[in-house]
Amino acid sequence: MITINKKERTFTCQLCGNDFITTATRAKYCPTCRKIMQNVRSRDYRNKKEHGEHIRKIGEKDICIECGKPYVVRSGFQKVCDECRKKYTNQKKVKANNDYRNKTYDSCLFYVQKGEKEKLQEYAKAHELSLNELVNTAIKEYIRNNK
Ligand SMILES: [Zn+2]
Ligand SMILES: [Zn+2]
Repeated sequence: MITINKKERTFTCQLCGNDFITTATRAKYCPTCRKIMQNVRSRDYRNKKEHGEHIRKIGEKDICIECGKPYVVRSGFQKVCDECRKKYTNQKKVKANNDYRNKTYDSCLFYVQKGEKEKLQEYAKAHELSLNELVNTAIKEYIRNNK
């Protein structure tokens, strides 16, 4: 006959409030509720897994989905490394600028002879204009002079 020399303690289950006896030194839930909690937890885990969510902890290392480099996770939503996040933010800014430009201006494409573009750009630079400003000024000038 083997005697198990373990002390039995009485705990109050935090889920159902019933007192229960266990030989464990620490217990939060009665055996019935513990099973329920385990099921809930593993279901949560499965759900997350099924939805493709990687379960991570802050401070853990993960692989950047953009560049593939490892980085330290700072928030649960973080998917890219710091460098790529900066790139992302810049892209957003560029997009905002583009949106503004698209709302404010029409773009028109025109062609110049090969090599002319560089010459025009240099000319514009010498006059402290952007190529765009030069073209706009030139057009206005032309129209004013040829009415
Ligand atoms: Zn319970
Ligand atoms: Zn990256």
